[in-house]
Amino acid sequence: MAKKEQKTAIVVGAGIVGVSSAYMLQKAGFQTTLIDRVGPCAGTSYGNAGAIVADGCVPNSMPGILKDVPSMLLDPTGPLTLRWSYFGKALPWLLRFAQEAREERVHHNATYLKQITQYATRDWARFMKTLKLEHLIQDVGWLKVYDSEEGFQATRDMRQLMTEMKAPFDVLGQKEITDLEPNLNGIFQHGIYQSKARFLLNPEKVVHGIADAFRSIGGTVEISNIDTIHIVSKDKVSASGGGKEFTADKLVIATGAWSKHLAEQVGSEVLLDTERGYHMMLPPLGDKGISRPIVYGEKSFVLAPMERGIRMTSQVEFAGLERGPDFRRIRKLLPFAKKMLPNLDTTEQDVWLGYRPSTPDSLPVIGRSQKSRNVILAFGHQHYGMTMGVTTARLVRDLALEKPETISLWPYRANRF
Ligand SMILES: Cc1cc2nc3c(=O)[nH]c(=O)nc-3n(C[C@H](O)[C@H](O)[C@H](O)COP(=O)(O)OP(=O)(O)OC[C@H]3O[C@@H](n4cnc5c(N)ncnc54)[C@H](O)[C@@H]3O)c2cc1C
Repeated sequence: MAKKEQKTAIVVGAGIVGVSSAYMLQKAGFQTTLIDRVGPCAGTSYGNAGAIVADGCVPNSMPGILKDVPSMLLDPTGPLTLRWSYFGKALPWLLRFAQEAREERVHHNATYLKQITQYATRDWARFMKTLKLEHLIQDVGWLKVYDSEEGFQATRDMRQLMTEMKAPFDVLGQKEITDLEPNLNGIFQHGIYQSKARFLLNPEKVVHGIADAFRSIGGTVEISNIDTIHIVSKDKVSASGGGKEFTADKLVIATGAWSKHLAEQVGSEVLLDTERGYHMMLPPLGDKGISRPIVYGEKSFVLAPMERGIRMTSQVEFAGLERGPDFRRIRKLLPFAKKMLPNLDTTEQDVWLGYRPSTPDSLPVIGRSQKSRNVILAFGHQHYGMTMGVTTARLVRDLALEKPETISLWPYRANRF
């Protein structure tokens, strides 16, 4: 009897979503090729704050956001920047973002964010154990702190939504904050603490670790800038670019913020833009530092105690994929970071720009393409890509295996806009 041919898969894009999907597909029996134009972890998964925000359910478009936008844009140390030359391009996205602030939309978006993030802790724990990378994930929670009554009161809608969504959190007072983080400045009167959240000490090492594990079980990594996705037949799809062509039974588009034009080729029109964000690395502080990622609520930046130093992350900048970085904004935050953590050594080690892949409703795109059920879309994870990456990979694997859906993927369909 003829031997049954092994199923094959291609994953384009080797960020957290792509490497995790490739690993799970290989493990599920697909001979899998992972393709990236640079190599594993060359994109946004490299430089984030590493927070695994279990039960994260607060969409970026919330009631009242429109009234806050002008002051955010005018504040030189505020969390939002718009490069005006990009305004026309971003307009369709921004208009839809504004519509998503309606109450019923916020409720919908929160429900379906949580539908994925509720599995984050469990899926990450299992994955890291299987890959023997447990030492790179910590059970330290996610803390936001506020130094003014006004700043804390501005979180009322967020807290109400989290309560409605049954996303657990504790409200902390000054003493409880100091008990958790003795080196923080004592000025923080209020805190919001999500104790179920986890922290990746070194997101880059984690993504490389998953890629190494993928290779060790027989997966192949290729370098190629894919520009064309082609539906060869009912059963075969191909990806090509840079003079190389790859053909397989299943193909996953996991190219983060760069996914729009590839998805369009398979009939999926997505309202995807990038919310650019920056980081600055500062020297490690050891026991004079902090034990978990902490958000300075009023200033919307994070200090995270990474393996190789303190990482400050910040900003949402609308300027597209082509324009160069503007590191002035993150540098302007240094005095606030020093105020937050007086021991901080503000000697800049390096700075970085990343591209959050964002949809206006804050929900990712996960599902089959319009033109072929063999092309699977997995991108658009916005501020929560590390949080949702491993769960998304599990959903991708189940789609490739043609298993019945364990959660409804309808809210994440590409053509919802
Ligand atoms: C400052 C900042 C802080 C953040 N903090 C957090 C956090 O604390 N917690 C959290 O959950 N999320 C956080 N995020 C979001 C998170 O980092 C992203 O959502 C996530 O990394 C996206 O992963 P991805 O795999 O979809 O894309 P990426 O990591 O960007 O990977 C896409 C890959 O595709 C490749 N590629 C692109 N085009 C092609 C092509 N044509 N051919 C071949 N390869 C291609 C790229 O080289 C890249 O390697 C943060 C983001 C930023 C910017």
